[in-house]
Amino acid sequence: MQNQTMNANVATKRCPYCGETVNATCQKCSHCGEWLITRYGKSWVKTYLLCSFLGCFGAHNFYNGKTGIAIAQLILTLTVFGSVISIPWMIIDAIIILCGAYRDSQGLELSRKPTIGGTAVFCALGLLGGAGMHRFYTKHVAIGWLQVFTLGGFFIWTIIDLILILSGNFKDADGNLIKG
Ligand SMILES: [Zn+2]
Repeated sequence: MQNQTMNANVATKRCPYCGETVNATCQKCSHCGEWLITRYGKSWVKTYLLCSFLGCFGAHNFYNGKTGIAIAQLILTLTVFGSVISIPWMIIDAIIILCGAYRDSQGLELSRKPTIGGTAVFCALGLLGGAGMHRFYTKHVAIGWLQVFTLGGFFIWTIIDLILILSGNFKDADGNLIKG
């Protein structure tokens, strides 16, 4: 009797994979072992920076557990001659990361939590010639490329974005205001 009362008070949900009823707070189904929440991998910012600076040595792939690919990139670069492959490979990986299409060794999307400070720093890079980073960071991928190729609307667009970010009026691609 006591047990039934307790069960009635526990919120439940149905696992979409096996159909069993599980506790609503469960992150992983206790019956079939499937994840019931969206999981994210490692940091998008760190992955991008590792790729930008050490990508030809496979640093971003080591970081994300893609060791086989990482070793291939490392060996290519260490042979010096192989750099004709590993450097373009690094650039392609950087583009994939910017587009939000990079996945780690478990197939997880990279995690990111844009703050006003971080987004502003990325935006300010536009004043040094590297426009659009804050747009990629907040998943505005198409606008990001437009800013890359227009130098951030000849800096004007970058400055407008910077004002929006610092005044707390900048939204990510999902429509959420960037805070914190
Ligand atoms: Zn299940």
